[in-house]
Amino acid sequence: MSITQPTHVAVIGGGILGASTAAHLARGGAQVTLVTAGSLGDGASGRSIAWLNSSGDRSAEYHYLRLLGLDRYRTWSVRHPESREYLRFDGAMKWAAQGETFGTTFAFERAGGYDAIWVDRADVAEIAPDVDPDALADEGAIFNPGEGWVSLPDLIAALVDEAVAHGARVVEHAGDARVDVQDGEATGVILGDGKRLPADRVVLATGAAVPAHLAALGVMVPDATPAAFVLFTDPVDVEVKTVLNTPRVAVRPTPDGRLVLDADWAEKSIVVGDDGSLTVPEESVQGLLDEASKVLAGNPRLTAQRVGAGLKPIPGDGDPVVGAVPSIGNLFTLFTHSGATLGLILGELLAEEILTGSPSPVLRTFRLDRFGADTAPETVPTGAWAPVPQR
Ligand SMILES: Cc1cc2nc3c(=O)[nH]c(=O)nc-3n(C[C@H](O)[C@H](O)[C@H](O)COP(=O)(O)OP(=O)(O)OC[C@H]3O[C@@H](n4cnc5c(N)ncnc54)[C@H](O)[C@@H]3O)c2cc1C
Repeated sequence: MSITQPTHVAVIGGGILGASTAAHLARGGAQVTLVTAGSLGDGASGRSIAWLNSSGDRSAEYHYLRLLGLDRYRTWSVRHPESREYLRFDGAMKWAAQGETFGTTFAFERAGGYDAIWVDRADVAEIAPDVDPDALADEGAIFNPGEGWVSLPDLIAALVDEAVAHGARVVEHAGDARVDVQDGEATGVILGDGKRLPADRVVLATGAAVPAHLAALGVMVPDATPAAFVLFTDPVDVEVKTVLNTPRVAVRPTPDGRLVLDADWAEKSIVVGDDGSLTVPEESVQGLLDEASKVLAGNPRLTAQRVGAGLKPIPGDGDPVVGAVPSIGNLFTLFTHSGATLGLILGELLAEEILTGSPSPVLRTFRLDRFGADTAPETVPTGAWAPVPQR
């Protein structure tokens, strides 16, 4: 790949999407500056379940993109053997809530060639010995052997090391940076202290803040971002390998022997203050610990280490928003849920678009202009996009 246009690209946002884009740009020969408000990985990427998957029913385009996402993780795991510490494909299990069935989901996954095995209680000890068979739905569960998890802070550190090895500069604690737009073109970044960083191209990858940052430039992107939290447990003395997505709790291990937990019901219990502060009720913390204990073999006693609460970036229709911002020259953005699964592939594809000037066909249905947006805020209908729960 050769650079046809930009020489200096500024990337705003030190989460997985900004770090991945910066690494791929630097690898491709661009001069890169990665700017982030605080520390690397201090946003959603630092408090994610980070289950790597293309589970369930999705559009063909989105499923394909997610499969590419998984593919890039497999390549990463081979090229970086040390990633075994923070990136695993030990499989994931899910089962339906009472009164519901995953039969259709299983049929859908199998019909599309997605690796899925139906598991009855009697099979659990063999397939996922870390799971309590009694916790399964009566109908059984789906096990997806090709799924896994990643610790995003570790991956971000590795990506940033790679970017720096290719000459990138990293500016942490830059404060509230914003895109410098002059005569309809992005010309650089204005850092929190007012200093100006000139650039030929700017990538806005500020996670949950993307809609507000674009709105300040007159560009609307429908937003379904909720408040969310994960709970990190103290180290556990049982071995947990399987990622679990159960009706009452999701569970995955961490590199340092803890578990990360979350659940939709717990997410909904967060109290959002008038000042935007987030309070997680103590009952939700204890409730998650209890639910996780129930689904793990041996029902271990779990204790909480810390809560990671904040916003979970989700575009209004649930699908990624990637690529050029049509109304502002030289400005690109990345705004997505499932940024763990998609982190490597979206950074790679966007970097390639910026370096070559050629849009990727894979991203065709994930453009900002699908909303008929990139318009003045007042012309965008409100409430037209319902939140789509997904991981
Ligand atoms: C509870 C939870 C569970 C999840 N589970 C999964 C899952 O199982 N599987 C999956 O694939 N995905 C999952 N996700 C989604 C995934 O974690 C996110 O999509 C991804 O981490 C988003 O990365 P990002 O780089 O866009 O944003 P972030 O990680 O939030 O990074 C944005 C960065 O931009 C910085 N920033 C913001 N404003 C400015 C500014 N003005 N100037 C400079 N810097 C700024 C922030 O400080 C932050 O560091 C989950 C997310 C959450 C919260």
